[in-house]
Amino acid sequence: MKILDGKMISEQVFDEVRESASELKRTAELVPGLAVVIIGDDPASKIYVNRKVKVSTELGFYSRKHELSRTASQEDVVSVIADLNQDPLIHGILVQSPPPPQISEREIIDTIEPTKDVDCFTPSNVGKLMIGDEDGFYPCTPAGIMVLLNRYQVETVGRHAVVLGRSNIVGKPMATLLSRKNKNANATVTLCHSRSTNIEAITRTADIVIAALGKAEFLTGDMVKDGAVVIDVGINRVDDSTTKKGYRLVGDVDFGSVSEKASYITPVPGGVGPMTIAMLMYNTYKACCLQHRIPIDKPIS
Ligand code: NAP
Repeated sequence: MKILDGKMISEQVFDEVRESASELKRTAELVPGLAVVIIGDDPASKIYVNRKVKVSTELGFYSRKHELSRTASQEDVVSVIADLNQDPLIHGILVQSPPPPQISEREIIDTIEPTKDVDCFTPSNVGKLMIGDEDGFYPCTPAGIMVLLNRYQVETVGRHAVVLGRSNIVGKPMATLLSRKNKNANATVTLCHSRSTNIEAITRTADIVIAALGKAEFLTGDMVKDGAVVIDVGINRVDDSTTKKGYRLVGDVDFGSVSEKASYITPVPGGVGPMTIAMLMYNTYKACCLQHRIPIDKPIS
């Protein structure tokens, strides 16, 4: 069994994006700009947002954090995004999920200018993803998984990939990217969800399993075949009184039993998570290039 080391591959991507951004500055005097909007004070969301701001600064980007209170109104959020849409220093806008209950995420998404939609939430970018238009953005988590598979030379062509979960941000775009007519994709994909029956019979036929359900340690060793490639997207907190914080993070995969059968597996943490941030940085660089009609220096794949 080999570990698919997302931390290591994300460092490669960061280096490549840093170099491309520095070239952009030298040749066109442009600096990619990322605005991160956070509504409320959810501790996990704060950690994610701070990490995104820190990494973007380290890559030489311009970055800005907009913190809105837990009681912010829909109008408050829409107004911040409308300003960012017009701001020439900002090329990418990210609104950290989940927003508080009084906020309509759908309306917020519809407010984001599609050319700045580095998360690929807007209908226009989702449509571009479906038809394989390279001028849009691919959602960071599934795009990062494709890069991880590619850099470890995991064969996807003609292989059976089973995606567990059909969210708009992970499961559905993951299935779309794996089934693209592309030398790094061309997989035969089965997409499962909470109404799928006999999931374990389906996963046992998979060459590649992508677990993105948000259910701690759902995928167990008896559900995968020998030699399967297993990608764990999940981030779940489980109580653990032996730790200082009283909890620990686990994925959607039972690492112990699955790693005994898998040929490749991603760890949690250090697998998919770092790749998500890496692709956010690439999308922000790409947004800057697209908005200024500059060819992408080195596309990340
Ligand atoms: P989500 O929006 O909650 O979607 C979960 C999906 O899993 C749904 O499609 C649901 O089916 C399906 N599902 C739930 N229980 C199931 C079951 N018992 N059997 C089969 N399918 C089941 O979650 P998400 O946003 O895609 O995130 C999934 C996980 O990935 C979470 O743990 C999240 O924290 C993590 N995540 C990690 C990253 C990263 O960078 N590492 C990024 C994003 C998300 P229905 O559609 O039928 O309800």
